[in-house]
Amino acid sequence: MEISHIEHIGIAVKNLEESIKYYESILGLKCYAVEEVADQKVKTAFFKVGDTKIELLQSTDAEGPIGKFIEKKGEGIHHLAFAVKDVVGSLKEVEDKGIKLIDKAPRKGAEGLNIAFLHPKSTNGILIEFCSEK
Ligand code: ZN
Repeated sequence: MEISHIEHIGIAVKNLEESIKYYESILGLKCYAVEEVADQKVKTAFFKVGDTKIELLQSTDAEGPIGKFIEKKGEGIHHLAFAVKDVVGSLKEVEDKGIKLIDKAPRKGAEGLNIAFLHPKSTNGILIEFCSEK
């Protein structure tokens, strides 16, 4: 597997508008995209920090994964996404090494990327996402 960089850090927030204000007016970053991902029941906002992005996630449904996360743990870092060459191959590689997967096959995430999640029980508590452009 070849991880090129941290593609993004996913952060669960209660209120996207309020959070965007913080990142823009306090940290001086610029939100360049807001996108709803119906599949994951979230609305996302993106900021670039070098090669890495910050992905803010607000739940559109209390029963969705981010809604449940915030109910349990509150706002905060939700997942870490690695850019890989090929999600399918990378999933197979880690599965062969005994890692439990949430997604056996990639699905479409924000920005049209192919994404898949590894189970945090297998990754020392961090929800890990792989993403690739193809
Ligand atoms: Zn993500």
